Amino acid sequence: MEIFNSVQIQGYPINRVKLTENLYLDEYIPFQLYKRYVTVGDRFNLWSVNQYMELLCRKISPKLIEADQKLRDRFGPVTINTWWGGGDYDFRGFRTSGCGFGTELSDHYQGRASDKTFKKYSAEEVREDIKKNWQEYGISIIEEDVTWVHTSVAWVPDQKQLKIVKP
Ligand SMILES: [Zn+2]
Repeated sequence: MEIFNSVQIQGYPINRVKLTENLYLDEYIPFQLYKRYVTVGDRFNLWSVNQYMELLCRKISPKLIEADQKLRDRFGPVTINTWWGGGDYDFRGFRTSGCGFGTELSDHYQGRASDKTFKKYSAEEVREDIKKNWQEYGISIIEEDVTWVHTSVAWVPDQKQLKIVKP
């Protein structure tokens, strides 16, 4: 875990945390949760930035990060959450209870799923590859008929095949 000096985002000093070669913690954690340690009156105010960032890292399954990095290696630039750069995507990784995105039993709420788009490849192209190589990626579930790539690393009863669901 590599933590960079803070920059101001919407008036909050926010530290960027590098998880892998190309992926950052803010791509997986919603802004409201990420900035909580600097919110006055919040109990996380007592924590050091490093402790809090480590706590946030623990919300994401390492299998998800590994799978996403492998996809990044194969397909190039990927977009998950974009709030760090001023974009609107905030809930494409871990979702906090009550955020209102998707269903409460979605794997996003346990940090086991992410939604992403690739600059150079369509969601369908990436899905076609995942259908062939899901075991190598460690991906157990994908969604079909959506314009983004949803992947989950949750445990599934049938380990012999990739589970394909519709949103
Ligand atoms: Zn999703």
